[in-house]
Amino acid sequence: MSSLFPALTGTPGGPDPVALRFGERSLTYGRLAGAAGALAARLRADAGTGRVALWATPALETAVGAVAALLAGTPVVPLNPRTGERELAHILGDSAPSLVLAAPGERLPAALDALERVDVDVTGEGRIPDTEPEPDAAGLVVYTSGTTGPPKGAVLSRRAVATTLDALEDAWRWDAADVLVHALPLFHVHGLILGVLGPLRRGGEVRHLGRFSPEGVARELGAGGTMLFGVPTMYHRIAEALAGDPELVKALAGARLLVSGSAALPLPDHERIAAATGRRVIERYGMTETLMNTSVRADAEPRPGSVGVPLRGVELRLVEEDGTEITALDDETIGEIQVRGANLFTEYLGRPDATAAAFDGDWFRTGDMAVRSADGSVRIVGRKATDLIKSGGYKIGAGEIENVLLDHPAVREAAVTGEPDADLGERIVAWVVAADPAAPPSADELTGHVAAQLSPHKRPREVRFLDVLPRNDMGKIMKRALGDG
Ligand code: ATP
Ligand code: MG
Repeated sequence: MSSLFPALTGTPGGPDPVALRFGERSLTYGRLAGAAGALAARLRADAGTGRVALWATPALETAVGAVAALLAGTPVVPLNPRTGERELAHILGDSAPSLVLAAPGERLPAALDALERVDVDVTGEGRIPDTEPEPDAAGLVVYTSGTTGPPKGAVLSRRAVATTLDALEDAWRWDAADVLVHALPLFHVHGLILGVLGPLRRGGEVRHLGRFSPEGVARELGAGGTMLFGVPTMYHRIAEALAGDPELVKALAGARLLVSGSAALPLPDHERIAAATGRRVIERYGMTETLMNTSVRADAEPRPGSVGVPLRGVELRLVEEDGTEITALDDETIGEIQVRGANLFTEYLGRPDATAAAFDGDWFRTGDMAVRSADGSVRIVGRKATDLIKSGGYKIGAGEIENVLLDHPAVREAAVTGEPDADLGERIVAWVVAADPAAPPSADELTGHVAAQLSPHKRPREVRFLDVLPRNDMGKIMKRALGDG
């Protein structure tokens, strides 16, 4: 494996393009090499190959801290600054970092008081270490999003990171001319590995908005941004804003690539964005444990609802509950996605049992259910644990019903779960946020809409109205917080 960040070494006397821009603050590749090099030397001396924590605010310091740790070979654990006390204590106990990297002046919670604090100096002037760390050793420990249970620390090697980023280069025709418009948090794979390390590996530019807004996206895509990475909640807000914002329409229409991931992008949002801008959002599918598995390729005709084909180097199969492999490419036989390849994590930190349970030989069980089409592309039906409903002898994906509910003008948000039922095994329950809370649609209206669009066995037996759906920091719906779902 060649160097993780070849652009950092630059050419003496050559051009020194911008690497990172966070609002008014920016660093060129030369300055980034200086700052990360200086910090890497400190990390090698103070922490060596012991883990360090990174207080991952959406700031220049977070990017510099992560790059420095990867250069040093010091495994880095990005922390979500909004994590509650109990979860933070769990992560710190689990990962046992020896020090914490933070932006100068940033206030840290008392839970971090016991750790040595190292302020990240973005003006540092060091040199990149001459020796590369071992590619298969731990590079980062990233915690899963906690959508289905307490977050688990996935140990990721530099090789896994390089493999996934290079496969995305291939799928997305990603190069040094790309300017990524970025508004995601920096403590997960999506925002940190794809959104920061990705452009840096390619030699391109990251422009972080600090906080997401459709106006910010319009401004930065309009001023030279070529790519946008977002989660479905962001594309939803963009879809809502398009009607009143011609600048946004123009900016999206001119972008090279609009990518969505971390959860399924509802079909109505796909359609609204395409109708207004003429551009299709492409979806990619990944996990903290596997980094990226599939993507719609930049040159493919995107089909809404598809997460595309396996990335270069990723082997993917669908398996029945009894472990037999599904070979049908019929768009309807549902199986669990299993993957293998150099993109996979090494282990769950300190949890050999969980690691062993997650594998079938060298195949990783993703827990995500999908079907495949004749062209080999994958359509995710949902998670085995929360989105696959077994009702009346049918296997029903919650997402399909959610898409139909979201298409109803009186529905703002929708989630579908299964609850135990003496007759049916499970019965379908719809959780709905009404577009106008003062005048919610009737349950009959909504269940009739689903039955008419899909089929009678997909009709929710019950509709429960909520003011808002429980979501985590990535905008993912926390179904475990919805009744028995
Ligand atoms: P936890 O494992 O802690 O419950 P999590 O699974 O949400 O949380 P992540 O590793 O951040 O944590 O997310 C990976 C999951 O996100 C995948 O297993 C899949 O369910 C979902 N996902 C990612 N991309 C897509 C996509 N394009 N379409 C549908 N689902 C997606
Ligand atoms: Mg998961």
